[in-house]
Amino acid sequence: MKCNTTNVPPAAEIDIPALEEKYRQERELRVNPKGQKQYVKPVDDFSESYEVDPHTPLKERDAIVEDIDAVVLGGGWSGLLAGVHLKKAGVTNFRNIDHAGDFGGVWYWNRYPGIQCDNDGYCYLPLLEEMGYMPPKKFVDGYDIYDYIRSIADRFNLYEKALFHTMVSGLKWDDGIKRWRVTTNRGDEIRARFVVMANGLLNIPKLPAIPGIHEFKGKMFHTARWDYDYTGGSYRNPQLDKLADKRVAIIGTGATAIQAVPSLGKYAKELYVLQRTPSTIDERTNPPTDPEWVKTLKPGWQDERKANFQRAAIDTFQPGDPDLICDIWTELNRNLVAEFDQSGWPTSPEEYLAHRNVMDFRLMERLRQRVDALVENKETAEALKPWYRFLCKRPCSNNEFYTTFNKPNVTLVDVSATRGVECMTEKGFVANGKEYEIDCMMFASGFEVTSDLDRRWGIETIEGRDGVSIYNHWADGYETLHGMMSRGFPNQFFVGFYQGGFNATTTETFSRQGQHIAYIIKEALSQGATSVEPSQEAQDAWVRHVRETAIDISQFQEECTPSYFNNEGESQVDSNGEKKFRWYLGESYGPGWDAFQKLMQEWRDKGDLEGLVVGKD
Ligand code: NDP
Repeated sequence: MKCNTTNVPPAAEIDIPALEEKYRQERELRVNPKGQKQYVKPVDDFSESYEVDPHTPLKERDAIVEDIDAVVLGGGWSGLLAGVHLKKAGVTNFRNIDHAGDFGGVWYWNRYPGIQCDNDGYCYLPLLEEMGYMPPKKFVDGYDIYDYIRSIADRFNLYEKALFHTMVSGLKWDDGIKRWRVTTNRGDEIRARFVVMANGLLNIPKLPAIPGIHEFKGKMFHTARWDYDYTGGSYRNPQLDKLADKRVAIIGTGATAIQAVPSLGKYAKELYVLQRTPSTIDERTNPPTDPEWVKTLKPGWQDERKANFQRAAIDTFQPGDPDLICDIWTELNRNLVAEFDQSGWPTSPEEYLAHRNVMDFRLMERLRQRVDALVENKETAEALKPWYRFLCKRPCSNNEFYTTFNKPNVTLVDVSATRGVECMTEKGFVANGKEYEIDCMMFASGFEVTSDLDRRWGIETIEGRDGVSIYNHWADGYETLHGMMSRGFPNQFFVGFYQGGFNATTTETFSRQGQHIAYIIKEALSQGATSVEPSQEAQDAWVRHVRETAIDISQFQEECTPSYFNNEGESQVDSNGEKKFRWYLGESYGPGWDAFQKLMQEWRDKGDLEGLVVGKD
């Protein structure tokens, strides 16, 4: 399938210095001197609604006291895929443990109306060929993803031992028995030889610390805990008819709000959308999956497609490379290829980057023009325009978000001048000096992504050898071997964005990490090893290598509008002049995804667990 290029304005029409200045001013307007501290943990009235699962009734069960080979913390994609790879490696004596009532992670908790995956589903849903499943469309609905996750858990028999509605409260390495002592809020005492930390990235709802938030007498909830009893409708049929007489406000215009706002605008009596920074929103082409196209797919197609997405979204296309993904994520490279094919390919990296830079401004200009074309009120349209570089924020696509503002019951409230909502009162909220009375405040304010690790993980105690806390151990940055293990924390593995190769398809990153971790656990068990951990030399060498080969994107990050992508615009240098490592994507491996996978494959092929100290006592 040939993918169309979009109509970006010509370079001659773009005044880059003026735009740079505009971007700088808009950024300055939004940088909050409080940085991370502008958000609060979901406590007090919120803690109940955060901890209680509205979707699945809690079942009583006896506390478990046992020895087991492995515990996988989490049942979202990363925990699920770690489980799949453990099973494939022949390790069966393990449990997934999750706070939720089922597998699914974000796709379990997030059930807000309009929820879809923003990425190409043919890449994002893993194991499609093995599972014999094809998503019904490119941008898949949340409930279809949840159902698919459950079918994978079923296929690999992960339900058998999984513990749901269980929060791990402590993890302590016991050197006497060479096991992790895992304690939970259900009174369990599990002694696990290995622990896999697949505890998620977008799991803890983040709330703005708005003065007076607890004064408000109306209804409040975070979008990750959508209350259909209040709004009417259901997850699979979100007709929010109970909002017909309600005045509703939603805080945020990120990826979640973009999807929820059209339904709210359709059903609420009044809707106020409280925006600090506009998103970039393209149209969403999302027809049903074409069975004729499916028939053309050859074995291995999914890996090929993911590799294409990686080149399109993160690396670069080569001459002749097709764009198989054809959406907003790949547009920048797609447009460049089209122009290079006409005018000749750049002969140096500098020339390439110069073209890329200009295309970035042209693409963002196209997206701003899209707002003008769709939003009738000129002032509202102006406020909805994004003024920053492409990828400063997650690009979205939606066909109804902008036109929702043409409805008489929908008002955009721009709160950028006060760096967020000024305050809440008993009756509503105050913005730009005016009080708005509402019945319900919804928080589409995101998740704890770059806050301190203990806050993000929500586990009070994690102690490795000699009682050292992982939170102190990593206080000045990650220290790992391959981003998956850390010295002093034997038999503990980390899935997520720490110090390794990252793929544009997050599930691919998690899956490959799960595969590598399963290999080490299997090897250790078959050798009768009781502990494995990186040697100091191997770990130091890896950290050095990652930092020496890192691609420095700090200038781009520091020029971006604040968000969790750039640590809320906080300075990335601490008081000692040292770089902080709070980027959303941790410390990404500079030589790239393919180079990292090659390294890991070669490491496994050698078969000697190089760089790991293997204990058998
Ligand atoms: P985000 O963190 O992306 O957005 C939070 C929103 O809340 C921002 O618009 C932010 O404004 C706003 N906000 C925060 N504090 C205040 C305040 N005090 N006053 C006014 N506005 C405020 O959260 P989302 O839940 O939208 O998305 C989180 C992530 O979840 C996504 O980036 C994505 O990774 C994932 N996601 C994925 C989806 C998918 O389809 N795969 C769908 C939805 C989410 P500001 O930008 O100014 O900080």
